[in-house]
Amino acid sequence: MPEPAHHVDVVIVGAGVAGLSAAHQLTSAGVTTVVLEAAPYVGGRMSTEKVDGFRLDRIGQLLTTSYPELRHTPGLDALVLRPFAPGLLVHSAGRHHRMAEPSGGRSARGALTAARALASAPRVPRPVRTAPGAPPRPPSRTTPRPSRPPSRTAPLGGALDQARLGAALARIAATPVRRLLARPELPAGQALSARGLPARTVEGFLRPLLSALLCDPDLTTSSRCADLALHAFARGRLCLPEGGADALPELLAGALPPGTVRTGVRVTSVSANRVTTAEHGELTCAGVLLATDARAAAELLPGLRVPPFHPVTVVHHAAPEPPLDGPALLLDADREGPVAHTAVVSHVDPTRAPAGRTLVSSTVLGTPPDDLERSVRDHLAKLYGAPTDRWELLAVHRTREAVPAMPPPHDLRRPVRLLAGLYVCGDHRDTSTVQGALHSGRRAAHAALADLGIRPACTEESLPAAA
Ligand SMILES: Cc1cc2nc3c(=O)[nH]c(=O)nc-3n(C[C@H](O)[C@H](O)[C@H](O)COP(=O)(O)OP(=O)(O)OC[C@H]3O[C@@H](n4cnc5c(N)ncnc54)[C@H](O)[C@@H]3O)c2cc1C
Repeated sequence: MPEPAHHVDVVIVGAGVAGLSAAHQLTSAGVTTVVLEAAPYVGGRMSTEKVDGFRLDRIGQLLTTSYPELRHTPGLDALVLRPFAPGLLVHSAGRHHRMAEPSGGRSARGALTAARALASAPRVPRPVRTAPGAPPRPPSRTTPRPSRPPSRTAPLGGALDQARLGAALARIAATPVRRLLARPELPAGQALSARGLPARTVEGFLRPLLSALLCDPDLTTSSRCADLALHAFARGRLCLPEGGADALPELLAGALPPGTVRTGVRVTSVSANRVTTAEHGELTCAGVLLATDARAAAELLPGLRVPPFHPVTVVHHAAPEPPLDGPALLLDADREGPVAHTAVVSHVDPTRAPAGRTLVSSTVLGTPPDDLERSVRDHLAKLYGAPTDRWELLAVHRTREAVPAMPPPHDLRRPVRLLAGLYVCGDHRDTSTVQGALHSGRRAAHAALADLGIRPACTEESLPAAA
């Protein structure tokens, strides 16, 4: 810890991904920076618990390869993203349906072809190689079939409905972000119904997909944020950071100049040129950048708004054998239990389970039921069509204030400069995602650099628009 008399240019409070992203922008512009973190580890909400060789994330597992900040934040060059199988597996009317692969930003024709091809694809994805150089997937096993009789109606309906969805996804992938943000703003659930897509496509695919992407089961989120989430989905692949969610902040922290990040230091008050810590007294500086979660930020600066939050619970099980082949993300469209989405995570990223073991991670959105353990187990048995009685419960991570809610009207670029020398960032200033948190850190650091009269190494205009 710097001596109390020690002076640094900028003190950042909080070593979540927003604070670490800001630290990279500042240090790469030659500004002396220290990041003070109350917890004994970096990463904030992007933390990973280690249990018996399993790596168990606190956050739900949905990053997107198309998030611009994952490519442009200094320090993330070594990040390996493990994609889920292309497209999605949806559990609807008691059986699995493989859904359209996003176009990846290609033409509407490409998306349409993909949607048609997938209409006749096997319903369970085959194992795939993910990152270049990644080991092959574990050998295929016979996939248990759901116990309920197959339904005749797929959530997307016939070929025409599938083509319509493919074209809609391609359109959204090709629409510039600024045009998405100019659309009228409604609650996402309401806006979905007005998109001219058949109700079964909306209820059977888009609603569960968006609920999962936004951590919002009731889709009260602004339709602009929902469009951004669909835009990112349609342009990339859903993915996990190899090794666990904490790999991302650890890479960021590890690439900063030695001694920049100090853990186990709780900040108790801030002003434009001074922070006070519980453990080490005061530190003077030219600027303070507050990079905590929204509630901690409002405790340190009482004028700041505390948004409502979406609670999220992540339940991790070790299964005696994989209940599904391949690295698919399985979404629930039937809503017959608490699980919104689930995956055999050890298929997506084998480093997250000891050799020969199977890790299944499942996400519950909203307030969890009282009998969470039993109801999740029963629901997973339905979703995978396999008995779950012998599955070992590894961890339940409940986060009441997981994701700041983004109801309309939502300001996607809330101001990060409070006054010269005092800045605030975090997912609550942008979108409530890893992308939003990283981007807010960049914006706040650039505001601080502008006040210090320093031009950032990489300007905002030179970057692609952030989702
Ligand atoms: C269960 C769950 C599921 C999620 N699912 C997804 C998802 O699927 N996709 C996605 O993109 N995002 C998801 N998110 C959101 C994503 O994790 C967050 O948006 C992002 O991690 C926020 O980063 P941050 O740096 O803004 O804040 P935080 O990670 O909260 O970091 C703030 C840091 O400040 C520190 N701090 C607080 N007070 C003080 C103090 N007084 N002194 C010093 N340090 C302090 C905290 O300890 C913390 O380390 C999920 C989050 C949760 C919890």
